[in-house]
Amino acid sequence: MYSADGNDMLMNETASRMEAVRARDAAADGVFFYAVLTTGVFCYPSCAARPARAENLRFFDTRQAAAAAGYRPCRRCRPDLAPRAQRRAEAVAAACRAIETGHFDLAQAGAQAGLAPASFTRLFRNVTGVSPAAYEAARRQHAAQTSLRAGANTITDTIYQAGFSSSGRFYEAADTMLGMTPGKFRAGGAGETIDHATGACFLGTVLVAASGRGICAILLGDDTGALLADLRARFPRAALREAAPEFAARVADVVRLIEAPKAGHSLPLDIRGTAFQRRVWQALRDIPAGQTASYQAVAAAVGAPGAARAVGSACAANPLAVAVPCHRVRTAAGAISGYRWGPARKAALLAREQ
Ligand SMILES: [Zn+2]
Repeated sequence: MYSADGNDMLMNETASRMEAVRARDAAADGVFFYAVLTTGVFCYPSCAARPARAENLRFFDTRQAAAAAGYRPCRRCRPDLAPRAQRRAEAVAAACRAIETGHFDLAQAGAQAGLAPASFTRLFRNVTGVSPAAYEAARRQHAAQTSLRAGANTITDTIYQAGFSSSGRFYEAADTMLGMTPGKFRAGGAGETIDHATGACFLGTVLVAASGRGICAILLGDDTGALLADLRARFPRAALREAAPEFAARVADVVRLIEAPKAGHSLPLDIRGTAFQRRVWQALRDIPAGQTASYQAVAAAVGAPGAARAVGSACAANPLAVAVPCHRVRTAAGAISGYRWGPARKAALLAREQ
C-alpha cells in the first residue's frame, strides 16, 4: 500500500513520535496522540503518566481517530481538550477581551485556566507583560485617548500587533511560562521564519502563513488568537512573524480563492506532510470545484483502497484550507460529515461552488 519511500517515512515518524513521548515533549501536543494498548487510554505526548512499553504504544493523528479506535481520553492530560499551553494562552486572550468589554473577573478567569487568582495574575503578566490591573488601567486610558477617533483599533488588536504576534513573542513568552521544553519533534519548522497575516472572508477570519517556499498554512476561524495558536501548534519550532504590509496582496489572493474557487489559482504552496498525506492532498486538488468525492474514492485514487479512515485523518490534518480542497470529500452516502474548520463552513463552501 505504501512505496518503500513511504514506509521509510512512516518508520521515521514512528521513531520521532516515540522520542517525543519519551521526552514528554509539550511541543508535540496536538500534533499527534498516543494510546496505550494495555490500558485503553490515549494521551497527549506530554502526559505525566508513567511511560508505557514501546510495543504497547499506538499513534494517532487526531483525537477523533484515537476515540474511533476505542481508546478513552486520559483523565490526567485531558487529550479531549485543547493542549494545556493553548488552553492557558486562550484563557489569557479571553481575559484580555473581558477586560476590554468591562466584564473581567479575576477569580473566574483563573478558574477557567485551572489556576488560583495569584497564579493567573502571574501567567497573565508573563504572557502580556503587564498585570490584569495594569491592563485595565491601560484600557481606560486607551479608551479615553481614542474614543473620538472612528475605527480605532481595539486594545487587543493593538497588543497583538505590537507585542504578541510580531516575532512570535507572545508564544515564546507563553512557552517559557508554561513549561514547554525546546521540542525535539521533527516537524514544526525548526530554524525557519514563518510570516503570517489575517484577512476577512465570507467564512470569517482567514489566517495566511508563508515560509520562504510558499504558503504553508491557510486556517479558518472566528478568532485571531485561536488561529495563531493553531499556527503555533503546527509549526512549534518556527519563528512566527507578523508579515510585512506587502503580504496583504497574498492574503487578498487567498481570499479571492476562497470566495471564487472556480477561478482556480496559481499560489505557490509549501505543502508539508507524510508521504501518504501528500498523496491524499494531491488527489483532493484533482477534484474540480463544484464536484465532490467520497473518502473511499479518494482512498482508491491514491492506491490505498480500504484506507478511507486514513484519508479522513489526512483531510483533518490538512493545513491549507480550500487550496487543498478537503471540503470536497463526503461520506459514501453523500453526507457532509466532518470538517476541520466546522461543518457549517464546509456546507457554505460546497454551496458556493454549485
Ligand atoms: Zn495522559
